[in-house]
Amino acid sequence: MPASSHNSLGLYFSIPFCRAKCTYCNFASGVYPASDHARYVDRLLEDLANAPSWAESMQVDLPKQVDTIYFGGGTPVLLAPELFTRIFAAVRDRFQVDADAEITIECAPGQLSDETLASMAEAGVNRVSLGVQSFVDREAALSGRLHTRTQVLDDLRRLRAAGIANLNIDLLAGLAEQTMSSWRESLSVLAETGVPHASVYMLEIDEDSRLGRELISGGARYSAGLVPTDDAIARMYEDAILAFADAGLQQYEISNFAREGQASRHNLRYWQRRPYLGVGLDASSMLRSSVEEDRAVLRATTTDDLSGYLSNSEASSETAWLGSAQQLEEAWFLGLRCNSGVRIDDLRGEFGASAIEPPVDAARRLAADGLLIMEGDIVRLTSRGRLISNDVFAEFLGLASAVEMAR
Ligand code: SF4
Repeated sequence: MPASSHNSLGLYFSIPFCRAKCTYCNFASGVYPASDHARYVDRLLEDLANAPSWAESMQVDLPKQVDTIYFGGGTPVLLAPELFTRIFAAVRDRFQVDADAEITIECAPGQLSDETLASMAEAGVNRVSLGVQSFVDREAALSGRLHTRTQVLDDLRRLRAAGIANLNIDLLAGLAEQTMSSWRESLSVLAETGVPHASVYMLEIDEDSRLGRELISGGARYSAGLVPTDDAIARMYEDAILAFADAGLQQYEISNFAREGQASRHNLRYWQRRPYLGVGLDASSMLRSSVEEDRAVLRATTTDDLSGYLSNSEASSETAWLGSAQQLEEAWFLGLRCNSGVRIDDLRGEFGASAIEPPVDAARRLAADGLLIMEGDIVRLTSRGRLISNDVFAEFLGLASAVEMAR
């Protein structure tokens, strides 16, 4: 879809606090005292207030109209209700939030207090994403999650009772001690919950996580030696696609599945290259140049150092301008993530016929290898391509370098 046709904004808030660190986690999150939460929200609101002047100084467009808001982390529901109230008041003060905006909060099951749930619902939160990872209690416990299956089911009931029915459940394939049979148990419990959205991630162990360090050093505390093989994880992923299709959850992106009309609007904007402003620790933004005739795109990421972020009101962001060549590369590898695929006509309209020739040739080669499928002017990943999507995407890097840079 041509990116220029969108003039609304998505807001992302990073809330990096967790009650315990999961064994596989490599996010910029940690266990911090509640006293840090209020300080952090102060900083967050400072950044939100400064966003228009920052955008002006960077010469990027910051749309005022907001149609998606996403609180990720970390465990955002650990914030006290009054902190949420402050954030929402500041957002509504500075932006025009659509009446039907999608407002999502990530939630660690078993950690949502009644007070926080009530304040979320009152503030307009209408979507909750639960980091379940496994419905098998031993697997969840081994990975450092603090919940049981019973608590997840209870949270779903409470959320629905509070009027929040747009629910996502995350599952993770590749946890320690996971087997094909325990994986199928998780898939089947998820299907029984009737949630309209599910996400499945294939665990890649990062050497900076506790699990990764144990894998290298050979310990036994987190059962790192009992992590499924890559082949087994790939089979689990393929199994999930079939099981979810049976349950009415159609795959629409490599890791995401939804009932008709219930795809995550916020996450779609990342893959469709629509503007978003990320606020808080390690948060990313993507905004378009406000200079007439300049089609450059700015990507910015905030520091991932919490103490630096808290103590410095001029928090450093890493910024990079993307010219046409890099945008065309992104259009391929972000677009191919979605089952709707990449539409060659749209790319031709946005980047010009000669610029898209090298990547289209690459797509033809990958189609001949069975990794992509080309139907008319639409290009999509095949199931095999989806399993090694990063290798497929790498084939598009550098191909567009002949395109004249916009900036
Ligand atoms: S809840 Fe999420 S962010 Fe927090 S430690 Fe676990 S995986 Fe990391």
